[in-house]
Amino acid sequence: MSEDCIFCSIVDGEIPSRTVYEDDTVLAFLDANPLAPGHTLVIPKTHYERLNDVPAATASELYARLHELVPAVEDAADAPASTVAFNNGEAAGQEVPHVHAHVVPRTADDGGGPIHGVFGSRPDLSDDELDALADAIRDNQ
Ligand code: AMP
Ligand code: ZN
Repeated sequence: MSEDCIFCSIVDGEIPSRTVYEDDTVLAFLDANPLAPGHTLVIPKTHYERLNDVPAATASELYARLHELVPAVEDAADAPASTVAFNNGEAAGQEVPHVHAHVVPRTADDGGGPIHGVFGSRPDLSDDELDALADAIRDNQ
């Protein structure tokens, strides 16, 4: 529990939510300001700010619940697809500092486009730079 965290307050029942799933580790509820009908947020009950902070066991439970919820949300919204995303850190647009997955039902004509659309121009990377990045990611796990 973190003081002043709106999602911790939802976990504690101090703020109401339209809960769609709950167990000891995970809570899922409708987004209060949905991007599409059925927009659902999936969170660990314990306060972790970013994906990077979530312990492996909790991450597994979070993903397992996403696996069940994604088709349930799509079916409920009568949507053929969804965008599933984490804004992971303030620089990426995360506003609530309690890690949460967005499950946003999508249709071909909703005007949203792919997640690539949040980026402007793409970096021009040399083979050496790509090799160095791949090496660094391998080494940092
Ligand atoms: P993010 O920008 O990834 O941090 O997204 C935060 C999300 O939380 C937004 O989509 C908000 O609409 C949603 N949100 C904020 N407060 C509440 C609340 N009390 N209940 C449900 N969703 C909320
Ligand atoms: Zn919290």
